[in-house]
Amino acid sequence: MTTTPSALVLFSGGQDSAVCLAWALSRYKRVETIGFDYRQRHRVELDCRTVFLAKLRAQFPAWSAKLGEDHLLDLGVLGEVSDTALTREQEIGFADSGLPSTFVPGRNLVFLTFAGAVAYRRGLTSLVGGMCETDFSGYPDCRRATMDAMQTALTLGMDRPTPIETPLMYLDKAQTWALSEALGGEAVVDLIVEETHTCYLGDRTQRHDWGYGCGTCPACDLREKGWATWRAGA
Ligand code: ZN
Repeated sequence: MTTTPSALVLFSGGQDSAVCLAWALSRYKRVETIGFDYRQRHRVELDCRTVFLAKLRAQFPAWSAKLGEDHLLDLGVLGEVSDTALTREQEIGFADSGLPSTFVPGRNLVFLTFAGAVAYRRGLTSLVGGMCETDFSGYPDCRRATMDAMQTALTLGMDRPTPIETPLMYLDKAQTWALSEALGGEAVVDLIVEETHTCYLGDRTQRHDWGYGCGTCPACDLREKGWATWRAGA
C-alpha cells in the first residue's frame, strides 16, 4: 500500500464535487473518483459525470496524468429505503421534520463508508467531498461536525488514518465559482458550467449563463445567485 498522499474524490457530477475534483488534482499526485447510483430520481447527474471526466482528461493534460480510475458503485438499496423528493416523484419542499424533502437520510454516511472501503483497497490516503454548511440547505449530514465524527469512525474502524477533506465547507456559492477559476481558469469554469448538473428536477433543456437547469428549484436558485454574485464582483 502506498503512503504517497493521494485522494479519492466523491464525484457526483454536480458543481461542488467537480470543484473538489479540480482542488484535489491541484494538490495530489494521484486522484481517483467515486460515484453512487442510488436510484436517484434523475440519472442526468450520473451521465454528466462520465462526460465531465472525459472532457477533463482531454482538456487538462497535467491533471489527466494524475487522474486514475473512476469507481461507480451500485447503491440501489439506499433508494429502496428512502422516501424523499430525490428518490421518488415527490414535491420539493419541507417535510414535517423541518428538513427539506430532498434530504436522503443517511446518504452521506453510507457514501463515506463505501468511499472509505474503496480508498482502503486502492491505497488512497484521503477522502475529498463537496459538503458545505455555508449555503445551508438544511442537510445535517453536510456539517463539518458530522464529517469529524465519520472521520473518527472510519479511522478507528479501518485502523488507519482516513481524513475527510471538505474544501468547500465554509465557502458560499460565489466563492466556489471563484475557487474553480483560481484552480483551472476560465477553461474549468466553462467545463463546470457546461457539463455539471445541479437542478433537482433534472432539467437539461434550459441553458442559462450558469449552466443547465429549471432555474427555479432551490438548487438552481443557489447556483444562479452564486454565479451572479461572483460575476458582479469578478
Ligand atoms: Zn432546477
